[in-house]
Amino acid sequence: MESFRSLKVQPSITFAHQAMKFSKPALIFLLLTAGLTQAAEINLPEMGSSAAEILTPEEEDRYGRQMFYEYRRLGYVIDDPMLADYIEALGYRLVAHSERPEQDFTFFIVRSNDINAFAAPGGFVGVNAGLMYLARREDELAAVMGHEVAHVTQRHLVRAYEKMQKSTLPIALAMLGALVATRNTSGDATQAILASGMGAIQQQQINFTRHNEYEADRIGIGILYRTGFAPVAAADFFKRLANESRANGEGPPPYLRTHPVTITRVSEAHERADRLMEETPVTESIYRPDDANFALMKHRARVLSADAPGALIADYRRELKNTDEASRQSLQYGLGIALSLGAEHEEALRILGALADASPGQLPFEIALAEARLANRQHAEAARRLAPLVEQFPDSAPLKIAFAGALTASAEKAKGRQAAEVLRPLINKRGYDPTLQLAFARANELSGDEDRALEAHAEVALYTGRPFDAMEQLKRLLERPSISYYQRARVEARVAEITPFILELERRRMHPETDQRLGLSVNNGM
Ligand SMILES: [Zn+2]
Repeated sequence: MESFRSLKVQPSITFAHQAMKFSKPALIFLLLTAGLTQAAEINLPEMGSSAAEILTPEEEDRYGRQMFYEYRRLGYVIDDPMLADYIEALGYRLVAHSERPEQDFTFFIVRSNDINAFAAPGGFVGVNAGLMYLARREDELAAVMGHEVAHVTQRHLVRAYEKMQKSTLPIALAMLGALVATRNTSGDATQAILASGMGAIQQQQINFTRHNEYEADRIGIGILYRTGFAPVAAADFFKRLANESRANGEGPPPYLRTHPVTITRVSEAHERADRLMEETPVTESIYRPDDANFALMKHRARVLSADAPGALIADYRRELKNTDEASRQSLQYGLGIALSLGAEHEEALRILGALADASPGQLPFEIALAEARLANRQHAEAARRLAPLVEQFPDSAPLKIAFAGALTASAEKAKGRQAAEVLRPLINKRGYDPTLQLAFARANELSGDEDRALEAHAEVALYTGRPFDAMEQLKRLLERPSISYYQRARVEARVAEITPFILELERRRMHPETDQRLGLSVNNGM
């Protein structure tokens, strides 16, 4: 099947779900563009029609993508290679033990301290940094993700749409994609629309029926258990949520508003866990939860999602004074990253260096140390330390991206070439990652391969919600006499794939009245 990614992607086992979703022809541009149009032109069925009629899986995928790329464009997705690697791996592990392991999923961490998690159409599952932070163990995070995975595999979202009023359905779908934001990029309007989009998603969650929630709990706990986590983690996290809402006095966090924790819910989760353990013996230990690594990841998410990471320095110092031994390392890790981002380089290097030296080859420490060194213009030291690790851990994308960053920072042409070689195999596997594409673009710029750099920049534009820029860059690239035969063929194919969607976007630009009629334009204060 011809597809956007089939030009380059060789699905790997690790990223099978990620790669698979690119085998669909509909893809990114529809999602970036067609949501509103679809919403406008959708033939709204009579009430009572089936979920399959109201939204096809392709439409679901499109709406989900539209939302995802808009979130990313507006900075709501933490595009950190280390965290992305972590949440994807955890998510795919759960999906592999779900009832629909072949379903496409995209897992991402949302830059927000609110305690929330949500599923959007098309298998997009977002987990807020704030929810990660509340979880004490990896299985608690996995419990929430398993629940959201179950909402997707059971098609609860589509069924929720089905229940909505005819008149509100297209608006909710359009807001979900916050599509109008692509047309009017003034900051305030964009924020307002995004907030509406978030609201729309939460509205969807509210509209899940009690039966849906019960089913998601039941199926989610099964997924948790089969993956190798303690099934009681769901009940544990429910209790933690309830305590949290009692403790902070600010009313329940968003997740609790959509997932009320009742005594019945907790006891049912408990009973289900007990029954699973009794009735279904674990045949093999598939995965061993890694709470130490989880603690590092949640602190990384905490710091990277902070508006002013430097402001966390004082918090970390205070927490370190009162901590037990078990939490010391992860708190130091958070402090080290916060110090580096707060430009307190000397202390950041001291703390992260000590962590890395005490646990040789532990990648979160090594990568954070390299980043701190880069922030302090010590790219040569960073590259020297990472080089043997890249040999040792050839499958680590975050490690390779960090290493390439250190090489590129040297501003030496030969190192640019080396960085491009390090990243090239990754481009085949996870070309959908704009952080990787940007690193690859910079490496190629430095090495003097401007044509390849331009192509990578176009991919960045594409995956961050700027399809017009992407198209313009690809066309400019085709005009260059230097472009190689193979690259020309590849770029021409890409342009051919993108063109119909760009045309669709332009058609909509010329005829915004349909959108206005539906009350979807920025001007009428949606
Ligand atoms: Zn739910």
